[in-house]
Amino acid sequence: MGCMMAYNYDLFMVSAGNFTWHVAAIVLGSLLMARVVAIANQKGGVGKTTTAVNLAASLAAAERRVLLVDADPQANSSSGVGHPGFSVELTLYDALVNECSLEDTVLPTDLEYLSLVPANADLSGAEVELPQVDDRSQRLSQVLSSVLDRYDYVLIDCPPSLNALTVNALCAADSVLIPLQCEFYALEGLSRLVDTIARVRGSWNPSLAIEGILFCMFDARTNLSREVAAEVRSHFPDKVYQTVIPRNIRLGESPSHGKPILLYDPVSRGCQSYLQLAQEVIDRGAPNAP
Ligand code: ATP
Ligand code: MG
Repeated sequence: MGCMMAYNYDLFMVSAGNFTWHVAAIVLGSLLMARVVAIANQKGGVGKTTTAVNLAASLAAAERRVLLVDADPQANSSSGVGHPGFSVELTLYDALVNECSLEDTVLPTDLEYLSLVPANADLSGAEVELPQVDDRSQRLSQVLSSVLDRYDYVLIDCPPSLNALTVNALCAADSVLIPLQCEFYALEGLSRLVDTIARVRGSWNPSLAIEGILFCMFDARTNLSREVAAEVRSHFPDKVYQTVIPRNIRLGESPSHGKPILLYDPVSRGCQSYLQLAQEVIDRGAPNAP
């Protein structure tokens, strides 16, 4: 993101011909550009999509302009905000592989401040076709760059694997938000993801930060949940969110109605916890780069 910002504002610098103006333009640019957050964990069913949809909706409720990008061929984020894969024409696949403009894929949702780049099953083809494209790991970053000044947050819902789509999301992102289920294999999965983040930093995106680690479907009654949570907190003391998402039936139900929890059951514990998370994300601001 940083390079692109500098590039955009170079033009401004030339016309101003003044170093102070140049610095001011870069600072202003960074305030105007969306923060791009990949929501990733290669483990399946840990709460990535539930977090992408409901954090996006909660940030939108706080009048932050949010673009939710569905980078998973399962298209669960798309259906979670009312646009099931079978109903959409242009998707992220078309922007990544077919040279369609990303803007043309953007759909409105029931929330004024929330827009969606949808997916459908075609996106699984991107796995095969992206390797033929130049700079294949940077493709999502390239296509997103034209819309970054229109949003405060871009949230990318990643598939449950460390495949080309996830690597594209990590290359396009300023930071990674990691939803975690506090169970036996969680730490092993987390260390694999942290290794991948380090590799992406080394090869493509040196400033990729960890936005935060979020405990999802948390059940404080079990010893195992509490032990795993304590272990993760000891390894990443500054990264684990205070907010914990409890297991909540209403959160599990809302996707089948094509609605974020905010529009399905705003008084539920699930909804309140995602609103609290959004506030924590806003209050924390941009995380320090590594
Ligand atoms: P995948 O890896 O397949 O993309 P995921 O990591 O995106 O999965 P979700 O789809 O968000 O995970 O969640 C998996 C299932 O658990 C879904 O049926 C979802 O509705 C349910 N679920 C997620 N979070 C909660 C919660 N806090 N309470 C109850 N059910 C939840
Ligand atoms: Mg998902």
